[in-house]
Amino acid sequence: MNAMSTRAELQMQFLFALRSKGVTDARVLTAMEKTDRAMFVTGHFADRAYEDMPLPIACGQTISQPSVVGLMTQALQINPRDKVLEVGTGSGYQAVILSHLARRVYTVDRHKTLMNEARNVFQALDITNLTAFTADGSHGLPDQAPFDRILVTAAAEDPPGPLLAQLKVGGIMVLPVGQSDSVQTLIRVTRSETGFEYEELRPVRFVPLLEGLGKD
Ligand code: SAH
Repeated sequence: MNAMSTRAELQMQFLFALRSKGVTDARVLTAMEKTDRAMFVTGHFADRAYEDMPLPIACGQTISQPSVVGLMTQALQINPRDKVLEVGTGSGYQAVILSHLARRVYTVDRHKTLMNEARNVFQALDITNLTAFTADGSHGLPDQAPFDRILVTAAAEDPPGPLLAQLKVGGIMVLPVGQSDSVQTLIRVTRSETGFEYEELRPVRFVPLLEGLGKD
């Protein structure tokens, strides 16, 4: 078997694993099929890019498990005209998937090392509807607000107030909440004319949402 067919086969298994774990939305599956996870995992773990597990990236952070990325993306119910904010760029993998589904995506991370690496991949992929900033995303992005959708990929104890405030009426935010070293819950917050509706989706485990900028 040559290298090409091995890779194609791995990608088929990858999509099969996503479906078997509940990622069934056709647009989400297509966006994930277009986004080669191997571009976002470097070093020792590169050959495990198609396995359904979180993997270490720089700055002590992780690229999320693909099935969790799929389930979170699906829970966001993104429309093609949406403006989306992601807090926690990390490797940039989730941001690129979002860029295939939305009109415009903003993504922020508190580590500039991660941001530089992610920007290189965004450039290599020629993604034009994605803007990345080094910033503390718990304050959101007031200059670009409000957003149709917000995705947070690090766990806070509660949904940060500024992010709730920057969600449009009718907008949806998906985020993990809970103590960083225990099991957290993925929740979906929907903003209505009168307030916020909260739904618990599933247990998850994410790195913590931290305040301020990282040292590197
Ligand atoms: N979505 C990423 C995985 C993110 S891991 C991917 O697809 O690879 C969580 C990320 O959240 C880490 O990179 C971490 O630096 C970032 N983070 C934690 N607290 C943050 C904050 N307050 N503002 C912005 N980013 C934050």
